[in-house]
Amino acid sequence: MCAQQSRFDEYVRKRNFARTPEPPVGGQSWRMGPISFVIQKHAARRLHYDLRLELDGALKSWAIPRGPSLNPLVRRLAVMVEDHPLDYATFEGVIPEGEYGAGEVIVWDNGVYSPEDEGTLFFQDRSEAQAKARAGLVEGHLNLFLWGKKLVGGWTLVKIGGRCNLWLFTKVDDDFADAGVDVLEDDRSVVSDLTVEELRTRSRSGEPNQAA
Ligand code: MN
Repeated sequence: MCAQQSRFDEYVRKRNFARTPEPPVGGQSWRMGPISFVIQKHAARRLHYDLRLELDGALKSWAIPRGPSLNPLVRRLAVMVEDHPLDYATFEGVIPEGEYGAGEVIVWDNGVYSPEDEGTLFFQDRSEAQAKARAGLVEGHLNLFLWGKKLVGGWTLVKIGGRCNLWLFTKVDDDFADAGVDVLEDDRSVVSDLTVEELRTRSRSGEPNQAA
């Protein structure tokens, strides 16, 4: 069974907030306007990209080992992980050696998103957008329209049958699809303009490990 634990239990259990610069729980718990998304590039032991979708006061989260592709024929594995607090959406910094997820994190992309239902988008209706996203999560099939700085257009998140946490993240074949472009080559933070390598160099030269 796919047991859902109390919202941030797993997030808290995995982290020592005396050591990691990641945000503790108990910060921002609600927002207005369209629901938001973020993709963080995380140079942990294995580099990956973390897709996070705001829903019901938390960030639903998936680790995408190979990152998103604009090619609609390329399906990227997305491993669902624990909910993160909303404050995590702006986190950039270095998780110290020995801590969970040790390595650099940058905000690779961010923006707002809406579920898409037969051509209808819900950017203007936060409550309906969240209801659709919630239903899609339960169903194991989410049609999304992302309005980010790097990723724009339709995407699907589809659960692999029978597994609790394995999903596929795929570009919809729309005007924003582009099989000829590697979107990951644009490797700078949309917040600080830093790459993970630059963040690492800065942190080793003794600057504070919080980027912003
Ligand atoms: Mn990660």
